[in-house]
Amino acid sequence: MGDVVIIGGGVTGIQAALDLAGHGIMVHLIEREPSIGGHMAQLDKTFPTNDCSMCILSPKMLDVSRNPNIRIHTCSEVIGIEGEKGHFRVTIRKNPRYIDEELCNGCGDCIRICPVEVYNRFDAGIGIRKAIYKPHPQVVPDIVIKDPEHCIECGLCYDICGREAVQKEDRASESVIEAASIIIASGYEVFEAAKKDQFGYLRYPDVITSLEFERMMNASGPTSGSVRRLSDGKIPRHVVFIQCVGSRDVPLGRPYCSGVCCMYAIKNAMLIREKYPDTEVTILYMDIRAYGKGYEEYFERAKSLGVRFLRGMPAEIIEGGGEMILRIENTETGKMEEIRPELVVLSVGIGPARDSAEVAARCGIPVETTGFFTSLDDKINCVATIRPGIYIAGTSVSPKDIPDCVAQGQAAAMRAFLDAVKDC
Ligand SMILES: Cc1cc2nc3c(=O)[nH]c(=O)nc-3n(C[C@H](O)[C@H](O)[C@H](O)COP(=O)(O)OP(=O)(O)OC[C@H]3O[C@@H](n4cnc5c(N)ncnc54)[C@H](O)[C@@H]3O)c2cc1C
Ligand code: SF4
Ligand code: SF4
Repeated sequence: MGDVVIIGGGVTGIQAALDLAGHGIMVHLIEREPSIGGHMAQLDKTFPTNDCSMCILSPKMLDVSRNPNIRIHTCSEVIGIEGEKGHFRVTIRKNPRYIDEELCNGCGDCIRICPVEVYNRFDAGIGIRKAIYKPHPQVVPDIVIKDPEHCIECGLCYDICGREAVQKEDRASESVIEAASIIIASGYEVFEAAKKDQFGYLRYPDVITSLEFERMMNASGPTSGSVRRLSDGKIPRHVVFIQCVGSRDVPLGRPYCSGVCCMYAIKNAMLIREKYPDTEVTILYMDIRAYGKGYEEYFERAKSLGVRFLRGMPAEIIEGGGEMILRIENTETGKMEEIRPELVVLSVGIGPARDSAEVAARCGIPVETTGFFTSLDDKINCVATIRPGIYIAGTSVSPKDIPDCVAQGQAAAMRAFLDAVKDC
């Protein structure tokens, strides 16, 4: 039986890895970040059930780490692929972690003593971390990483670590894996909101992105789960969600619908109404896309909780008298309306992972004009590519929600399994 390489340890790659390992296939899960989990680990609750995201994902992450048929390669990337289906040679580069992965037990003494604080990318920029850190408390593998860019070499972490796990020097290393097939599950990146200058993201402190909002709502996030204005720390009395930021936008080169933003905005609007019944919530939208099982009912529930859906988009956010002002044409009534929200959440769209073009080139598969990987066809071969033995799944193919990612991860796993057992 051959091994399978999976590029990307988000929920799609995790599901594919568990399915393959459960059938006796050796899996190498390649993740460029220090932990597996991907975007799902950043979310608070998940539509349409409002289950806690990590309550679903964390047990799967632990299953991956305990499965003898799965080898996790974190801080790692695929830098070369040679060969063909059944006989690929995949070259992996492991980037420096400055930690001995065998010695570190994740106790966190080094984190507590480190004096350097920098912004935490995992918290989408609204939280802080140390120069030696875990991106979040439930990382897998449960070990730290040292960030050489911000470390001031004070030496405190070297002294406190009784296991001598912290390393002053570390270098990238390369290794080669023989694999029967490869699954690419490298996921997505959210739209850079500052590109829509008219909404004042990074200019107005109380204009945030939906991913930042997820971190804010999360009990283990930077505000311990409370929704606050970044300007004055107060609970906002009116929150406005602006939909389709970086989606369905032809001039931006992002003509497609991101699929999940209507649903996650509805989710977060409901969560605000439940947590802060005195806070007004308005969703500004073009169309509501609630296509999945139970999604229409979810939308109706939000309305019954008092969420206002206003069909119309503001041209810009302006400031007047210390307030944010949005002027909108309500396209249902034809009337102009003026809203003065205390917090604006931009529902940013989903685009391909930042290095997807390079990954595609290394794998010898094409990408679409949008940057997502191209399937062999979009109907009966949606996880296959033009290169036999290389499969694609999840949001690296197109925007999709978690249930669809899991289903596609499973489909890709089955195709990869057939390759892996072909010569048995
Ligand atoms: C604000 C927001 C809220 C959402 N809420 C919900 C919700 O409530 N319910 C729901 O169903 N969906 C929701 N979604 C969508 C959900 O996040 C995705 O469906 C899902 O997380 C995608 O999983 P994935 O594994 O395909 O991609 P990702 O989670 O992006 O995982 C991809 C992984 O691959 C890694 N990677 C990327 N490139 C490489 C490379 N070259 N080499 C190695 N590793 C690489 C990444 O670091 C990452 O860990 C939401 C999305 C957003 C933006
Ligand atoms: S490096 Fe040492 S001190 Fe830091 S978490 Fe690992 S074992 Fe603990
Ligand atoms: S040596 Fe660097 S990482 Fe370690 S405690 Fe000092 S600043 Fe933090």
